[in-house]
Amino acid sequence: MSVMTEAATISESTARFLQQQHQLLINGEWVDAASGKRFDVVDPANGEVIATVAEGVSEDIDRAVRAARAAFESGPWSRITASERGKLIWRLADLIEHHLDEFAEIESLDNGKPRAVAAVADVPLAVDLFRYMAGWATKIEGTTIPISVPYMPGAEFHSYTLREPVGVVGQIIPWNFPLLMAAWKLGPALAAGCTVVLKVAEETPLSGLRLGELIQEAGFPPGVVNIVTGFGETAGAPLAAHPDVDKVAFTGSTEVGKLIVKAAGDTNLKRVTLELGGKSPNVILPDADLESAIPGAASAIFFNHGQCCCAGSRLFVHRNHFDQVVEGVADAARTIKVGPGMNPATEMGPMVSKIQQERVCGYLQSGLDAGAEAVVGGHRLGDSGFFVEPTVLVNTKPEMSVIQEEIFGPVVAAVPYDDPEELVSAANDSIYGLAAAVWTRDVSQAHKLARKLQAGSVWVNCYNVFDASLPFGGYKQSGWGREMGHEALELYTQTKAVTVQL
Ligand code: ADP
Repeated sequence: MSVMTEAATISESTARFLQQQHQLLINGEWVDAASGKRFDVVDPANGEVIATVAEGVSEDIDRAVRAARAAFESGPWSRITASERGKLIWRLADLIEHHLDEFAEIESLDNGKPRAVAAVADVPLAVDLFRYMAGWATKIEGTTIPISVPYMPGAEFHSYTLREPVGVVGQIIPWNFPLLMAAWKLGPALAAGCTVVLKVAEETPLSGLRLGELIQEAGFPPGVVNIVTGFGETAGAPLAAHPDVDKVAFTGSTEVGKLIVKAAGDTNLKRVTLELGGKSPNVILPDADLESAIPGAASAIFFNHGQCCCAGSRLFVHRNHFDQVVEGVADAARTIKVGPGMNPATEMGPMVSKIQQERVCGYLQSGLDAGAEAVVGGHRLGDSGFFVEPTVLVNTKPEMSVIQEEIFGPVVAAVPYDDPEELVSAANDSIYGLAAAVWTRDVSQAHKLARKLQAGSVWVNCYNVFDASLPFGGYKQSGWGREMGHEALELYTQTKAVTVQL
């Protein structure tokens, strides 16, 4: 396997954006971090510094929370109509769409993903999410409830519920889909009428900052969306622990998710929603159409270089077809063009960071040391940049870390099975429960398995199908609550029951 090196030149507008003295967005203004400190942003395709951003810490988080609180309690946002909120969100979607190429380029340079993929997936999905949520702003309704109150015979009441915004929300997002994760978080929060402090990932802060510029341009009042760049322990943790934050919405590792829950519990019991890790089973039944299941299994793990929390990283194949499927997925891995995301021919870019590359390679080594075999791949790739070979492992054991733990890289473990009952317990043998898939021509089997698999999303004869209207989230330790759909919106509201005696 080899890695391509050439990358397309950066457009003038993106080059200009990268050179800016990036700051924090607090109360509608771009400001330096209180400490004046900055940190480097690196292109993972070559390890070069492409920008520097402000390093926000607890003092900056505190300023941002105060701005968000003021905007929520007394700013123009507190008086805005639902229709106006919807229009602002829609306007933001239009602006992102207008700058689609620029966002795709920024995402590619910052995260490493192919620019072409960002242009058809990350950016349009973010636009669609904002439009979907814009529509909800005017449809957040309470109910009227006929109450009986048996201990007050003869009394008459009018009872109804109000669905009110939760308040000031802290949102902490990861680096695998930087713009899209910001959209998943901001869309429902803004539609519900909350105000936000968004902490973008330290590896990929740039698209969030460009989004901040468009939020300003769209006309959101000051303090409604505040954006802080910084590190997990010094910016994320103070946001999770802030006593004046009403809710934290987090996407990232299960390990940090537990810290967020603890921080909420130790302070003000703020509401918490979590979208965490996964180790998703992808099941090929004996009757599956292998012509679609094989490329489907390859794309389930190799899409976004396996840096998807729902990646199909455990591939269960009936023993009758095991060799054929493994060979097919390995062939797909061999032909993937690995290179810088900015090269138009690239199908798989680098891991997001050196740390991530080392983490993935560490898992590979531990699997190989424990007796697993790499049919293809198994190592880092190239001399510069953070590339890893697309890898198919066989001969794994259920207790190996490559089966139990989330690798977050282009590594699939293929496991044969004989008995369908055994299959269900093996597939569910995970602390995670984010996603699962089944490939079969048997409709009844598909629905039966969909019920038995412990996962928040089950795909049948497809994988990685997302839509703004479809709730996404985890069973078990993959999280609390849902992203997208009206369920996400509900989690940014709280219910007030009002009773009037007539
Ligand atoms: P990964 O290990 O894949 O980078 P993390 O869960 O560490 O995933 O990171 C996801 C997001 O959580 C990032 O924005 C990161 O800065 C933030 N984060 C990391 N550690 C903490 C923490 N202790 N408290 C709050 N946020 C954190």
